[in-house]
Amino acid sequence: MQAFEATSHYFDQAAKLLDLSDNIRTLLITPDREVRVEVVIEMDSGRIGNFIGYRVQHDNARGPFKGGLRYHPLVDEDEARSLASLMTWKTALVDIPFGGAKGGINCDPTKISRGEIERLTRRFTEKIHDVIGPVKDIPAPDMGTDAQVMAWIMNEYGKYAGFNPAVVTGKPVELHGSAGREAATGYGVAIVAREMLSELGRTIGGSTVAIQGFGNVGGFTARYLAKEGAKVVAVSDAYGALFNPEGIDVAALDRHVAATRKVVGFEGARPTTNEELLRMDVDVLIPAALGGVFDKSTAEAVRARLIVEAANSPTWPEADEVFNARGIPVVPDILANAGGVIVSYFEWVQNLQNFKWPLEQIQREEEKKLVDAFHDIHDLARRKKISMRTAAFYRAIARVGRAHALAGI
Ligand code: GLU
Repeated sequence: MQAFEATSHYFDQAAKLLDLSDNIRTLLITPDREVRVEVVIEMDSGRIGNFIGYRVQHDNARGPFKGGLRYHPLVDEDEARSLASLMTWKTALVDIPFGGAKGGINCDPTKISRGEIERLTRRFTEKIHDVIGPVKDIPAPDMGTDAQVMAWIMNEYGKYAGFNPAVVTGKPVELHGSAGREAATGYGVAIVAREMLSELGRTIGGSTVAIQGFGNVGGFTARYLAKEGAKVVAVSDAYGALFNPEGIDVAALDRHVAATRKVVGFEGARPTTNEELLRMDVDVLIPAALGGVFDKSTAEAVRARLIVEAANSPTWPEADEVFNARGIPVVPDILANAGGVIVSYFEWVQNLQNFKWPLEQIQREEEKKLVDAFHDIHDLARRKKISMRTAAFYRAIARVGRAHALAGI
């Protein structure tokens, strides 16, 4: 099974309960536009570098297409299509006025220079500039991209369309970015984990947590949970994993990662593996890296009491069935990691208003949106006796379907 098929499976599970006609189902599931471009640059060595970039625009019934750009060796059409569809449901679920899109470039940003990444980004923007824009499609960071990449896109786009920071979100704060955007996804994951733990009669304080991934999302999640008193007992990155049953000193780990770019080699914990991390006996397990980490056998081996999906699509449908059968609650990706796009929305609004909001306001409004969406979905799941994933898709599909019905064809 490929990624888009998995997302479509989750869509169908919820769509069944909504009694959609076949035509509406097809309309909702089919991406609106898929752009594939060749991105050719001169490498530092003087040779020609050939790359392929994608932008899949899934649905814009509720507002402009919205979603991240990923620079990673696994980027392809199918992954972009799956992640674009998830963005449609994510923005609808937390009720912000956007549709869904996703894209990226098939490349390994750890193996090319900053200059090469800048040239790639500018050439890619040149190729897609006519399909993006502040009221058309608004990219943002995802794996392998950051605020600097967004600044280059904004600058390159401006050469065609005139200066307009609202064309991308997740920009540097000094260049029309928003306070709180960099931390927004991890902050949101911590809020949603707190709400779910409280439904289970527990608190963050004293809970044990394992986090797969220590990039932007995993890192901020670890920092916020540790600040609230959780014991972060395990973390990992692409190179290895760490374990300390007493809880890892996240601030000390941050210093180690700032110096070495890796979690491995940190002295305040002992080495372990990514596979072990997923099977640890912890209260909360948080996948915060690539998709597709839970297959059937991994799901059977999970010993965590709760899963909070900070990554997009970490769970294959066969694993989801195992979690449901075993009664392990899963807070689904489109809810758990929606904090990022929520603050992207605030950034876009600030850009349109030409007015800056203070951090306290952004965090307060992000928290309110997530807490409201969480309880709406948690209650819906309980009432209908369905998983939180199916409830989240159900709510989102109903909203997008209604928008299509009202707008007409
Ligand atoms: N890449 C993030 C996500 O998957 C953020 C998207 C955005 O802010 O547009 O939700």
